[in-house]
Order: sequence, then C-alpha cells, then structure tokens
Amino acid sequence: MSNWSIDDARELYGVQRWGNGYFDINTDGETVVLLRDGEKEVPVSLQKIIEGLKERGSAMPQQLRFRDLLDRRIEHLNESFRSAIAETNFQGNYRGVYPIKVNQQQQVIEEITEFGKKYNYGLEAGSKPELIAALAYMHDPDAYLICNGYKDDEFIDLALQAVEMGIRVILVLEMPSELAAIIKRSKALGIRPELGIRFRLSTKSEGHWAESGGDRSVFGLNSSQLIDAIDLLKAEGYLDCLTLFHYHQGSQLPNIRAIREAATEAVRVFVNLAQEGAPMEILDMGGGLAVDYDGSHSNFSSSCNYTLTEYATNLIEVVQKHCDESSIPHPTLVTESGRAVVAYYSVLVFNILDVTKFSHPDEPDAPEAGAHDMLFNLWDIRNRIDDNNLQECFNDALFYRDQVRDLFRHGVVNLRERAVAEKIYWHLCTRIAQKTEHLEHVPEALQTLQSNLIDFYYANFSVFQSLPDAWAIQQLFPIMPIHKLDQEPTQRAILADITCDCDGKIDRFIDRDSVSTFLRVHKRESGEEYNIAAFLVGAYQETLGDLHNLLGDPHVVSVSIEDGEITYTHEVEGDSVADVLSYVEYEPKDLERRFRSFAEKAVRQGTITATQRKIIMESYKAGLSGYTYYED
Ligand code: PLP
Repeated sequence: MSNWSIDDARELYGVQRWGNGYFDINTDGETVVLLRDGEKEVPVSLQKIIEGLKERGSAMPQQLRFRDLLDRRIEHLNESFRSAIAETNFQGNYRGVYPIKVNQQQQVIEEITEFGKKYNYGLEAGSKPELIAALAYMHDPDAYLICNGYKDDEFIDLALQAVEMGIRVILVLEMPSELAAIIKRSKALGIRPELGIRFRLSTKSEGHWAESGGDRSVFGLNSSQLIDAIDLLKAEGYLDCLTLFHYHQGSQLPNIRAIREAATEAVRVFVNLAQEGAPMEILDMGGGLAVDYDGSHSNFSSSCNYTLTEYATNLIEVVQKHCDESSIPHPTLVTESGRAVVAYYSVLVFNILDVTKFSHPDEPDAPEAGAHDMLFNLWDIRNRIDDNNLQECFNDALFYRDQVRDLFRHGVVNLRERAVAEKIYWHLCTRIAQKTEHLEHVPEALQTLQSNLIDFYYANFSVFQSLPDAWAIQQLFPIMPIHKLDQEPTQRAILADITCDCDGKIDRFIDRDSVSTFLRVHKRESGEEYNIAAFLVGAYQETLGDLHNLLGDPHVVSVSIEDGEITYTHEVEGDSVADVLSYVEYEPKDLERRFRSFAEKAVRQGTITATQRKIIMESYKAGLSGYTYYED
C-alpha cells in the first residue's frame, strides 16, 4: 500500500513554490485555482471546469483564462510600487505601462485599461497595429501611452493627433533617424510631441535575453548618438519636449544584482539629460521583471532571486540615491512589465490520447512451452536480480535479447516470440533501474537505464502552437496532472504532442534542484481520461504560436466564480480545419468542389456508388468544419 498524500503531490510538482498562492491541490487530489468571489477566495477545481466544458460540448485542448488572476497581478504590481515608495519616502510616483506585445488579446487590453484605471496604468505599443488597438481603449489622460518600435509617418501622425485629443502619448526614439522624421511631421501638423529616448546600456544582464541589453543590443541609442540627438533637439528648439528616458535590459531577468547595476547606469544618464536642460520627468525602466516558473527562487533562467517588493524597492533606492546626489527631483518611475502581469492568467489543459510504455514493473507472461531456449534464459534472469549483480544481470538481459533478435532475423524465432522476449527484457530493465535508485554508486552502463525507461504520453496539443517557447528557447513551464493527485504517480513520462514532429515534445520539466528529463504521471489504462495542464502560459505563448502541421488555436474560455458557481464567459472557438487551411491560402469551397468532382468521377467509373459519394462528401464537409485537434 502506498502512503502517498496530497502533501507529497504538492512537494513533487512544486505547486506551492511556483503557484504564488493562485494554485494548489485539494483533498480530492485535483489541482485548483484560487479565485475571488466577492470578498471570499474560492478554490476551483480545474478538472471540474473541464467537466463543465465537456458537458457543454466543448472539446480538448482548452486554454483557460482567469480574469481574476490578471486583476490581482495588476494590483500586486501597482501596490508593490506604492508601498515601496511610501517606505522609502521617494518623492516621485510609479505609473506602469503594459507592453501589448506580451499578450495582445482584446480581453487583456480591455481588462488592463478598466481594472488598471485606478492606478493610471498605461500601455506600451511597439508597432502601428498595437498603437491603433491601444488608442481605442486607452483614454485616461493621466496614464501613459508609450510608443516604442519603428515609426513611419503614419505612426507618428496618429500619435501626434492623439496628443491633441489629450492622451499622454510619448514617442520614444529607438534609432537616431527617427528624430528628424518626428520633428518634420510635428512641424507639418503643428503639434508638439512628447518625446522619450531609448538608451543602449553597456551593463550586461543575465538570462536568455542577455543580448537585449549591452553595447551590441539592437535597439536604442548609444552615448554618442544620444549626445547628437540632444544637440539636434537644442538646435531645432525641441529640447523642452524631451521628458522620458527609457532602457530595456531584456525579458525574464533572474538576478536582482544585474537589475540594480543597469538601473544605476540608467539613472546616471537620466541625471545628465536633466543637467543638459531637458525637462526630464519619467524614467522608463522597461520590462524584465521575471516570473518564478520553476519556483526555485534562484538566479536560474526559469526563476528569479527576488520578489516583486524587492524589485520595486531596489529600483527606487537606486534612483533616489543618484537623483539626491545630483539634486535632481525624483522622477515618475515606469516599468513595462509584461510577463509578470499576464503569465499566471492562462492555463493550457490537454488530454492524453495514448501511451507507449517502456517501463514494465508488472511481471510479464512467461515464454510458452517449446519456445526457444534463449527466451527461457532471459526469463530466468528475473530470479537472480539483487543489489550485487545488477550490472551482470543487465549484461545478460542485453545479450539474450540480442540473441533473440538475431534468431528472428534468421527465421528461427517468430514475431510473437520476439515480442514476448522484448517484454521480458523491458521488465528486467525496469527492475534493475528501480534497484539502482537506492545505490550510492551506480555503474556507468546503468546510469542511462532510467532515461531509457521513460514512457511516451501522447498529448492532444501542439507545442508549436501553444507552448512555442518550450520548443524555441527551451523555456520551462510548470506542468502537472490536474486530477488523481491523491494517488502516487508511478510512471515517468515525456509528453509527445500530435504534430508528428520529432521536436513536438516536452522533455524538460521543472524540478526542485535542477531540470528533470521526465514528468511523474499516473498509470493510464487504455481509454481512461487523463488530463494534464501547463501553467503560467499567459505571456508571449499565444501570439508566438504557429500553425505547424496545421494545428490551430485551441478553444479559449474565461472562467470566474460568481456566487459559488463556475461561470464561463468570453468563449472563443478554436480554429476549424477550414480556418487553418484558408490561412495557408486554400479556399475551403474550392477544396470541396475539387473533392466533389473527384468523387463524382469515382461514381462514373463505378469505384463507389452515388450513395457512398453522399456519405463521403458529408465526412469531408464535417472534417472541414471540425476542430484541428483530436476529437472523441
Ligand atoms: N518593453 C520592451 C521594449 C520589450 O522589448 C519587452 C519585451 O521583450 C517588454 C517591455 C516586456 O518585457 P517583460 O515581459 O519581460 O516584462
């Protein structure tokens, strides 16, 4: 009997380390999200959410969005800065902006502008489409709309016209040539711009995006370009328009020391710009605030060694110190924190379709009487395995298994006998590997045995569509089953998606001390429902995802809790097969017409009957309108 408990599950999957108080496991062994229902916080089972969706006829995979978690992140960010400002007696404000690129979904922008209003929370637009979306939602005259990215005349004109309407739009120079273009359009329209300059810090940071900062970073002006820009602003009489200084060190910065170092360099430049005579008011410290995906609270790239409060306090202290030293008034601080605001908001849930097992802890069938001797030699190894002869037993198992394969090639052993031998072999390997777990010294040849015994769990989703960063930059996301957690997960698995691509798999998982090459999962009997979720996927994943193998967007639903009831809103149906085909320039009607004439030809040739044609055409049309994922 296993004495497995819910606490063991919590420890194994680290849910309380990465969950940040938003996720946990209930006594029924189901993963819960903690959502606010009025004044109360209610644990809501993800499995129950999925069951409700199934009853309503919505298939897996499902992307669940929790608006409450988005609100709480906005609140946490803004309140952390507020209290750090109060504690340090900082004289400036905090006025964050949300970088639209991190999750552009309409619902996110709507929520940020509605819920963030009490904090004058603004937006950052990095392109013309983002600016156009932002202008439709961002109408708070005290919030900032910061424009980064390349700007053509159309972009500049729109931003200037919005200034006339009373929106605080700030055009940030990313490249030296932009300044002349802005001045030209400003003169043409007769509208004075509010300007910012992005600077290329020399301070290098750590983590995956280290190259976004430092001398070789792609964006921003270096110090000589900055001085040229100041001189041009002075010459053109525009220096009074420069109010903002911006830098961006990179995303997911794991180490607070590097953040402090960059802030120190930045505030020194800020002070110098003020001393040049610019009315410097805003210090925009960009993105980078990290998410502790693995819950290790370390400077590992999937984690961070600081809390939000420490982040806010560190930035404020550095700015305060250097401004005070130069008698410059404390600025309004801006961060463009995206990941830390939206990551928690989305969870991807998918079902397991099938399993290929390599580990065989259960005793296999014995060879039948009359089977070749080699099979019995293999079978007999079972009785002699002990801690002292693991290497010898493994060598023997390998030898007899290969002998059986040779005999098969020579026609002496048939396929059925070969299958029996393979099963015995994997059973022996499983038992030997189990014994090595308790050994202090594991012989070299047996060290890789464990990894060869990891099962494949075939999961109904696409890594490329729903977790692109897991594939592209090996980012870790917390992944765990959402039910059965009151039972011990005895299997080790990697997750293979349904794209038929060798890279379409997840084989790196969070672990307490390092990265694990497998996920502990429950035994799944054929046909049994088994659901797994990837958490903290609200940042970057949705729009970076692609159509590899023509697997489209999954169904999306927003979930909240009202008067104790699970409430589904903002349901967005995932792509249909016709949708994804049209994205790659097929015309669904034309496909249908082509297939119909092919079917008609088959009727004429007598290959199928007219009635069969009708049934085949119905299947074809149902396929076109169906979900791109595996449907039961
Ligand atoms: N600001 C700029 C200019 C960026 O390029 C990015 C993303 O890389 C961000 C903000 C958002 O960064 P994060 O999501 O790490 O907060």
